Amino acid sequence: MTRKLKIGTLTIGGRAPVRVESMLKERLSSAPEDMEKCRAQCERLLCEGCELARVAFPASELEKPLKWLIDHTSLPLMADIHFDPDLALAAMRAGCASIRINPGNMPLHKLTEVIDTAKGGGVVIRIGANGGSLAGRHIEQAKGDSAAALFLAVKEQADLLSNHGFNDIILSAKSSSVPDTVRANGLLSREYPDLPSHIGITEAGPGDGGVVKGASGIAVLLSQGIGNTLRVSLTDEPEREVRVGYAILRSLELRQRGTNLISCPTCGRRRADVMKLVKLVEPLISGLPDGTTVAVMGCEVNGPKEAAHARYGIAGTPVGAVLFKDGAMVGSYDFDDLPSVLAEFFGH
Ligand code: SF4
Repeated sequence: MTRKLKIGTLTIGGRAPVRVESMLKERLSSAPEDMEKCRAQCERLLCEGCELARVAFPASELEKPLKWLIDHTSLPLMADIHFDPDLALAAMRAGCASIRINPGNMPLHKLTEVIDTAKGGGVVIRIGANGGSLAGRHIEQAKGDSAAALFLAVKEQADLLSNHGFNDIILSAKSSSVPDTVRANGLLSREYPDLPSHIGITEAGPGDGGVVKGASGIAVLLSQGIGNTLRVSLTDEPEREVRVGYAILRSLELRQRGTNLISCPTCGRRRADVMKLVKLVEPLISGLPDGTTVAVMGCEVNGPKEAAHARYGIAGTPVGAVLFKDGAMVGSYDFDDLPSVLAEFFGH
């Protein structure tokens, strides 16, 4: 088990559940309309269950807008800073409870100031490296092994901070390659078993490919017990990143947020159009308690058995569907009646 960190009221590591993160895609600026867009995106992310969002913080003029945002949302934020220690100091002055930096790029006297300020304010520092921005020296040192180079890059940063007596650290090693990311994180967790880690596959891309890439890497790591907080990086809305993050955790039975919708892939035995049934059902189940299982099956062959195991079950028949609740049959209905019957079935 890793050490437990606190970002405001959010705990990461220790016995805390794996956290789901995203990053604001709206640009923070001092223009009131941009600030409002960022605030609205934070609210949408909160509704999806996002627990921490990074926000790009590329200029010190953003100190006031960042402070405003922190004051106007309950979503914990992490200021994303790359090279400039003065930006790290500005973000902490704005009240940000966590920052992401690359300490290897900061002059030592400035890094000391950043660390002392973080210590004084109880600020958590995320450090890490991406496969795309590795320094030549790490690649050389690792003899061209990109996963080992990623590990070395993060190790250098982690050692810099711990040599300064700072251990409120979240580690991150990401690449767009799933095997490299998995191997680099394995090396890190062996080297720093007590430090929490943020996991994900960077630049995973859009659509199904991006979701699969992110989910594969994250699932492999979580199944090895690695990862305390995750982000599914997608070329998509950040809300989708959060939904996919929870879907991964639900699949691994690590967290139960959301409804567990089971539906059959259909085959030549199908008695009903399952896709049509799923479209009817989906909008009706979003308000069910977390972890509720809803099964939509295409026929009476396997359907009733599967549907009967779910809290709510729907099995297709040639004319409509049979409904089950907690294993007991509720009734058999014609397709035309299903919209109203299903609405009542799910308590609308
Ligand atoms: S539940 Fe019926 S229709 Fe669906 S895949 Fe199984 S056999 Fe085919």
